[in-house]
Amino acid sequence: ATLNPGQQLVRYDASLERRLTQRATIAADLRRALTAGDFHLLYQPIVELPDGRMTGVESLIRWSRPDGTIVSPADFIPVAEDTGLIVELGAWIIDEVCAQAAAWRRRHGPDALRSIAVNVSARQLLDPGLMDVVASALARHGVPAAQLTVEITETAVFGGGRALATVTALSQLGVSIALDDFGTGHSSLGLLRTCPVDIIKVDKSFVDGLNGTPQQEAIAIALTGIADSMGLRTVAEGVETVEQAQRLFELGYRFVQGFHFARPLPPAGIDAMLEQAHKL
Ligand code: C2E
Ligand code: CA
Ligand code: CA
Ligand code: CA
Repeated sequence: ATLNPGQQLVRYDASLERRLTQRATIAADLRRALTAGDFHLLYQPIVELPDGRMTGVESLIRWSRPDGTIVSPADFIPVAEDTGLIVELGAWIIDEVCAQAAAWRRRHGPDALRSIAVNVSARQLLDPGLMDVVASALARHGVPAAQLTVEITETAVFGGGRALATVTALSQLGVSIALDDFGTGHSSLGLLRTCPVDIIKVDKSFVDGLNGTPQQEAIAIALTGIADSMGLRTVAEGVETVEQAQRLFELGYRFVQGFHFARPLPPAGIDAMLEQAHKL
């Protein structure tokens, strides 16, 4: 077959246009969904080994479209970031998380959940209004800053600048800072010196390597060592099997999260777990 660059170019343009149209459609739909209130949060337990007691939760957003389909954040958070809509959506998420934290405090007592984590994207950290959004949500709902954890990625603060300044201010407010997907971005280790980190969330890819070759286990082993010597807490993410949980415990991990323990749940599911814990 002879190569026809012209034809290829036309085809490429067509698919690019389709993709751009798709993104534009998601962006327009996101804007409508924000007004209509079509988002809700699920909460995934973070549990302590060896007994599996829930010590905290991570909030994870879902978008339910009018036709009943649920859109994964992996499909719309990047669009919300690119369009800047994440600033408005993020403010709603932070307020909703604080309202939920207050409800759990009222129902189950102030110490029932040690921490409630919220994901904050790079774009939000560049917004000068973020500090005020967090501080006023905490104040409005009467939630102590110490109960809130903000999960950020290494990449978001890698460049320093305003993002790092915002994280530092949040930390000074008393909010805990967790580095999400740790080990998958760049400059992980140096960042632990410049950024006020409290928790490192060890990425699922390293949990997947447990019980494999020494090479596959090496990073999960090294990260507890670093965390311990720097006085940081670790949370291992994406724990799917009892063997992984056992190995993590052997390696000194105490906080874990994953489908083996619990999937992301609606608030009532967390209420049920808190009531159960109270009875024990
Ligand atoms: P993440 O922050 O790393 O969240 C963990 C993801 O892993 C969640 O996917 C969770 O449901 C999933 N997960 C938990 N345990 C397991 C497991 O054992 N196995 C497997 N295979 N997966 C597990 P989800 O909810 O689809 O969220 C995907 C990503 O979207 C999040 O990754 C986060 O980067 C982003 N995201 C979610 N909610 C928010 C939000 O409220 N704001 C922002 N900015 N980003 C969010
Ligand atoms: Ca996270
Ligand atoms: Ca993560
Ligand atoms: Ca992730």
